[in-house]
Amino acid sequence: MDETVRQHKIVLDESEMPTTWYNIIPDLPEPPPPALHPGTLEPAGPDDFAPLFPMDLIMQEVTTDRYVDIPGAVLDVYRQWRPTPLFRAHRLEQALGTPARIYYKYEGVSPAGSHKPNTAVPQAYYNAKAGVKKLTTETGAGQWGTALAFACALFDLECEVWQVGASYDQKPYRRLMIEAFGGVVHRSPSPLTEAGRRFLEIDPNHPGSLGIAISEAVEIAAPDPETRYALGSVLNHVLLHQTIIGEEAILQLAKAGETGPDVIVGCTGGGSNFAGLAFPFLREKLDGKISPIIRAVEPASCPSLTRGTYAYDFGDTAGMTPLMKMHTLGHDFVPDPIHAGGLRYHGMSPLISHVYELGLMEAISVPQTECFAAGVQFARTEGILPAPEPTHAIAAAIQEALRAKETGEETVILTALCGHGHFDLAAYDAYLAGRMVDEDVTAERIAEGMATIPSVG
Ligand SMILES: *Cc1c(COP(=O)(O)O)cnc(C)c1O
Repeated sequence: MDETVRQHKIVLDESEMPTTWYNIIPDLPEPPPPALHPGTLEPAGPDDFAPLFPMDLIMQEVTTDRYVDIPGAVLDVYRQWRPTPLFRAHRLEQALGTPARIYYKYEGVSPAGSHKPNTAVPQAYYNAKAGVKKLTTETGAGQWGTALAFACALFDLECEVWQVGASYDQKPYRRLMIEAFGGVVHRSPSPLTEAGRRFLEIDPNHPGSLGIAISEAVEIAAPDPETRYALGSVLNHVLLHQTIIGEEAILQLAKAGETGPDVIVGCTGGGSNFAGLAFPFLREKLDGKISPIIRAVEPASCPSLTRGTYAYDFGDTAGMTPLMKMHTLGHDFVPDPIHAGGLRYHGMSPLISHVYELGLMEAISVPQTECFAAGVQFARTEGILPAPEPTHAIAAAIQEALRAKETGEETVILTALCGHGHFDLAAYDAYLAGRMVDEDVTAERIAEGMATIPSVG
């Protein structure tokens, strides 16, 4: 083959973009356990969610329809950057000397620089349609806040964001981008809410956590009839919206002449980019058409799938959300301030947790120095600087490619490069200057986190 004309990116025309999201629930051998009302411990109904979400999203949360139509107004916005490219990582493969073929679906081409607008746009759309005036939310690294502020600007909604303190301090440029889109940003914990004040009393410089920031955003949204809350990951409707990633990747891998991936790896914070990529392939696997290994990759500092417990727990730290059955480190667990802010969440999506319990996927954890080594190797071969979160996926892809080198197998590896790292240069600075350390979570800390989860009979 002429090396100079090998195919690097597999693209789809706008007209080939999928027009439905895929819901995996009806295809699973068992339905996932329901969310529970924390007071009655009865399954939570639409009314329990109504103070937080518009009815269209509540219905998507519980739907058993296999496909959900993407509204025309959402498709119209998606077309600005979708379909996203699928890249073949020829130069990374060469550097590794592997016979594996590595493909990555690049979501960093969106206006916010990550996969998050795939759900921010429909969430803003359904809220605007329901007459909502303002959305509140949390953000870790700032990717979700950016995406929601962008989506709110398009649908004329106000946007108020509680950003995890550690990220707020480390990453001023994400805050500025949210403000440029018209959003308002608070450092969390903030003095504006009861939940925030409680943690500020403990420590006026509290580094915050996603769980605390969620409590603050929920506390402001719940009593205000014109305000709703938006969550950037974890919930079924968020995972649903992200499945456009995998639906496109299926078409693109076929265009590349592949019969399917052998291994799918993705980074998991709350699980949305991973599920978005993997669930459409899992449908094909459950249908007997392909048989890829599907592997979630989480940070060693926040190992909810690999070291957490499958139990009912709150989605936030103050205990205001319905109880969800998920792999959790406990809602009081505050992860070390690692640089992958988007992966610092105490729980894993209930749907992913369920799929994991069913034995349909695997999980591993990787320490952050290995991730950044992989991120730098990726940048130096593929030319894209990954966000700290997907460096976890890249590290796992490299592990797999090196295994293929040992066995000589032409493994087809697929991953999501779910965001670029242009606002994460302080993290790369820490790595390149040799200041980055790997924090090990002790068994005692995990036991401490689990001590306060509610007991559900
Ligand atoms: C938010 C975010 C994550 C973590 O969220 P998931 O729901 O697990 O995808 C990972 N990567 C990037 C780039 C993010 O912005």
